[in-house]
Amino acid sequence: MASSSSSSLDRVSWRALVLSRHLQQPTDSSFQSLESSVCLQYSPPEGNLEFDVREMRKLNDGHNFEDRDWLFGLLIQSNLFCPRNSGGKIFVSADYNQSMEQQREITMKRIRFLLDRGVFKGWVTDRSPEGELRKLALLDVLGIFDHSLAIKIGVHFFLWGGAIQFFGTKRHHEKWLKDTEGYLVTGCFAMTELGHGSNVRGIETITTYDSNTGEFVINTPSESAQKYWIGGAANHATHTIVFSQLNINGRNQGVHAFIAQIRDLDGNICPNIRIADCGHKIGLNGVDNGRIWFDNVRIPRENLLNSVADVSPDGQYLSSIKDPDQRFAAFMAPLTSGRVTLSTSAIYTSKIGLAIAIRYSLSRRAFSVSGSGPEVLLLDYPSHQRRLIPLLAKTYAMGFAGNYLKKIYVTRTPKTSKTLHIVSSAFKSTFSWHNMRTLQECREACGGQGLKTENRVGNLKGEFDVQTTFEGDNNVLMQQVSKTLLAEYISAQKRKRPFQGFGLEHMNDPSPVIPAQLSSSVLRSTKFQMDIFCLRERDLLKRFAADVSQREAQEGKAYAFLLSYQLAEDLARAYTERTVLQAFFESETCLSEGPHKNVLGLLRSMYAMICLEEDASFLRYGYLSIENAATVRKEVMKLCSELRPHALSLVGTSNWSSMSRYYGALWYTSWVPAGVLQFRLRVTVGYEDGKWVLAPKVLPADRKAGVIYDMGVQISDIAKEGCSHCDKGQWK
Ligand SMILES: Cc1cc2nc3c(=O)[nH]c(=O)nc-3n(C[C@H](O)[C@H](O)[C@H](O)COP(=O)(O)OP(=O)(O)OC[C@H]3O[C@@H](n4cnc5c(N)ncnc54)[C@H](O)[C@@H]3O)c2cc1C
Repeated sequence: MASSSSSSLDRVSWRALVLSRHLQQPTDSSFQSLESSVCLQYSPPEGNLEFDVREMRKLNDGHNFEDRDWLFGLLIQSNLFCPRNSGGKIFVSADYNQSMEQQREITMKRIRFLLDRGVFKGWVTDRSPEGELRKLALLDVLGIFDHSLAIKIGVHFFLWGGAIQFFGTKRHHEKWLKDTEGYLVTGCFAMTELGHGSNVRGIETITTYDSNTGEFVINTPSESAQKYWIGGAANHATHTIVFSQLNINGRNQGVHAFIAQIRDLDGNICPNIRIADCGHKIGLNGVDNGRIWFDNVRIPRENLLNSVADVSPDGQYLSSIKDPDQRFAAFMAPLTSGRVTLSTSAIYTSKIGLAIAIRYSLSRRAFSVSGSGPEVLLLDYPSHQRRLIPLLAKTYAMGFAGNYLKKIYVTRTPKTSKTLHIVSSAFKSTFSWHNMRTLQECREACGGQGLKTENRVGNLKGEFDVQTTFEGDNNVLMQQVSKTLLAEYISAQKRKRPFQGFGLEHMNDPSPVIPAQLSSSVLRSTKFQMDIFCLRERDLLKRFAADVSQREAQEGKAYAFLLSYQLAEDLARAYTERTVLQAFFESETCLSEGPHKNVLGLLRSMYAMICLEEDASFLRYGYLSIENAATVRKEVMKLCSELRPHALSLVGTSNWSSMSRYYGALWYTSWVPAGVLQFRLRVTVGYEDGKWVLAPKVLPADRKAGVIYDMGVQISDIAKEGCSHCDKGQWK
């Protein structure tokens, strides 16, 4: 008690002291007391960029540059996207301090705004590769602005719209696609249940057919069968795709997809439907995830999405695919679009985190090496380079690989569907894991500033964490990658035919030979890098096949794969990293000699070296000797210092300019989003000598010289007391 009243007294007198000092009229001499520290001598190196960042951005974005710029331009025109004019530039970013309800409401308003401006034109009606690439580019941009916005749109167009496109037939396309594109209906996608997420085949919702009325009847038979996490269900969706077991004449035909209305156009929940809210989440609160129960909900027979199977009016089950496993696979195959969009979204988010952390590391100094000399820029510490630059190289590699994934997605055919399935599974998992790791490293690399909401990195962790779970849990997807490779291996062995597809053609060649001693030039050669990645993949595939087969003999078929999980993980990783490296290499090969190719060569080598360094398989199975592993480690360090001069240009290469914030020279660049990391001055005379205070770029422009401002808290306190000098509205 006593201590709490004395501390509140202290606080009152402290505030009085701050206020009285603040209100003191400044004198010219006190103005002189503000001296610039070495921190202010930093000059941004934009003038000395090693290569044309716009050209690099084009290489990395890969497609639809004008469309992307057009959309960025739209966002900054509307208050809905929270534009801020700072230093003559306009920046936009979502406000995560809003309540869940506010975030949901503004997300819907943003969608209406984009709809009115024709952003979604052709999104479900134009299936040409060009139309699909435009859609993917625009979704990239929206995801950079806000994950909730991209996901809410993604659920409506890619999941609801995609299910109608791919699971449906002409009758569904004609009835629903135009209305979907114009948001006359708002769709959601109800697959997951409380009791079954990854295991979609185990869902319990059950649908029967009533031949007397020509209707399907959908039921939630138990609490664990309630649909759960359904994006859009809690507030806005009028219709849903329902995944359900289909029971015809007492026989379960497996999981099928149906269209059901859940709300009328005024937003009232339909009869026999019950909906509840999933509530507040650690991020993505602009998406209204909900739970749905169906109580004998009747829908017309035509609402079965019948591309794979149908039910005749008199109740006969009809499908050209007799095998239930193959039928289920056919149902799931079109769902790759979500994994494609999440893969690229994860990469753009890593870029934002890295842009902020690298820029911070180019302005923040800490400790002096020589004692009296200037403090050292964070990015000049080799250890700091080692933390950020390999992540930057991986992000670049994954950016190029993401473009490769988009290409196989928009040109997909039934023949390429398996490849698309495993590449999208592998990339979605690996890139979303990479994103979470990158954001955490960037958060820490910004020190305390990384924790400020305004500096974005911390928030992004919460917003994007879900990417490791939805659209297929990462661990489960990676197991599917290995399982598919194993099936391909067994089939190639059985039929004694060469490998074709999945990029496994290298298995048809003799096993690569790795030189006994690795020099720097060998390590950096594409031949060595591809050879050692292919060697790892082919050897792990053989080991995995042998392990599963041995366990099958000992433990039975059902357990064999489960028990071989370690090799399955190693193999999925090897497959992913080889595919990424190959995609990077192919993008680089198209370039003519010059600075872009040079720096991409360094990044590709860094990507390869860091994969060699981080995967214990190389040592465990002897693809690298201990001595060579040490050489690789040294090469990582060398590459860090060679890439260091390019670091700023490399984070300025995506079209993030209108997403960024501008807080004075320290953060100036025409390309990169800096956070609100603040510009500071050291006060050498004043009520607390030697204290760091905020500089004029951040404080109101009419700040009185000589007034001693402290960091945020005290300033806010004064403002609340009606300080005449301060314009609270201008504080960032
Ligand atoms: C914010 C959010 C939005 C979502 N939106 C939608 C939506 O719109 N529509 C929709 O239908 N669903 C949606 N989902 C659901 C999402 O797709 C599922 O959460 C996801 O598929 C994982 O299922 P689960 O949560 O039941 O986890 P589980 O499947 O229970 O997995 C839990 C853990 O067990 C592990 N595991 C599971 N199976 C195995 C196995 N065989 N071997 C080893 N480990 C295993 C997983 O790796 C995971 O770590 C959303 C989820 C969230 C969080």
